[in-house]
Amino acid sequence: MVAKSGLWILLVAGLILPEVARAQERPTVIRATTLLDGKGGVTRNVSIVVQGTRITRIDPAAQGTTYDLKGLTVMPGWIDTHVHIDAHFDPNGKSHDAALSRDETPEQTMLYAVENAYNVLMAGFTTVQSVGSPGDRDLRNAIARGTIPGPRLLTSLRPVNETTGTPEQIRAFVRQVVADGADLIKIFATKSIREGGGPILTQAQVDAACGEARSLGKRAIVHAQGPEGARAAVLAGCTSVEHGYRLTDEVLDLMAQHGTYYDPNFGLLLHNYIENKEKFLGIGNFNEEGFEYMQKGIPIGIDTFKRAMNRKIKMVFGTDVGAGGLGRNFEEFIYRIRDGGQPPMEAIISATSRAAESIRMQDKIGTLAPSMEADIIAVDGNPLDDVTAFRRVVFVMKGGKVYRNVAPGRTSN
Ligand SMILES: [Zn+2]
Repeated sequence: MVAKSGLWILLVAGLILPEVARAQERPTVIRATTLLDGKGGVTRNVSIVVQGTRITRIDPAAQGTTYDLKGLTVMPGWIDTHVHIDAHFDPNGKSHDAALSRDETPEQTMLYAVENAYNVLMAGFTTVQSVGSPGDRDLRNAIARGTIPGPRLLTSLRPVNETTGTPEQIRAFVRQVVADGADLIKIFATKSIREGGGPILTQAQVDAACGEARSLGKRAIVHAQGPEGARAAVLAGCTSVEHGYRLTDEVLDLMAQHGTYYDPNFGLLLHNYIENKEKFLGIGNFNEEGFEYMQKGIPIGIDTFKRAMNRKIKMVFGTDVGAGGLGRNFEEFIYRIRDGGQPPMEAIISATSRAAESIRMQDKIGTLAPSMEADIIAVDGNPLDDVTAFRRVVFVMKGGKVYRNVAPGRTSN
């Protein structure tokens, strides 16, 4: 009996002591002149108190500043809901295409992805959704182990497209991708913008993909350039429509009605392709005709973006960038504000609390508040008045760990 209760005490002590030790660690105190909470709130002269990986309180009177971010604008780490984390330029300067450059080893591909992950984190993005590539899973898990610097990564692994098969085959495919570790399902319901964006899946196929994802508790995001694919996605109850350059008022109204998220991949994507034209030209559907479609797509996208904003559609911040765009994902803010007329605060909300809600992580990230993960960034300047401030990310903390602290004229311990 005595031995038994002694054992019990040891077990309980073993469970409790590490907790006590953690609680006694000195908190990190971040002093902020201007704090944007990710939901539209602005607070001045406060401290964010971080214990372990989480924010414990936001307190104007907290003592013992660890990081003084005076003169900077502090906000939640940004979330990009649509990237291709392993996309890169080859040593010959051309965009990598697995079918063309067969001599690249999986290890080389992974190292490019690791580089991209580092650059994206340094750019202020503490969470990204990569949609998707089979190698994403191992990168996601490696970053989650805490040593490799990168954003929290979600991935769809392999997508559903026109070659996946019948609705029954699509359901089986979705089950397999989830079993393989996908966080969400990616569906190509239409062709690429470079091929006109017409539909490639039937309503029954989209129903099967999004329906099966839902029954497994997973989200489904749908690449749809034109209105037909987007309508099918909304009717099938999919989570989000990606791209949607040519969405009609009717489909936008339907999205508003159903609460479908819209991820317009608005500015950086097409501008990046056009700026790096020589690096993409000749790869897959990147031909002169494709570039013409993209050039024409810019004003169409601006018009669609404005119509979506007027309808108060739940817009999230996804860039769809790969090579040339990863690490400067923040340029999307500038395009949205400057060319799309989006108010800066709204653009920030779309990349923080609303993006978090769209990936069902709103209880963990996207807002600066007690009990949230300590994903905290700071930019030099005020992005509400000066869009170029989005380019000056000088402080990055993810899960309580500081990865970047290069504020001008400032030293810290
Ligand atoms: Zn994409």
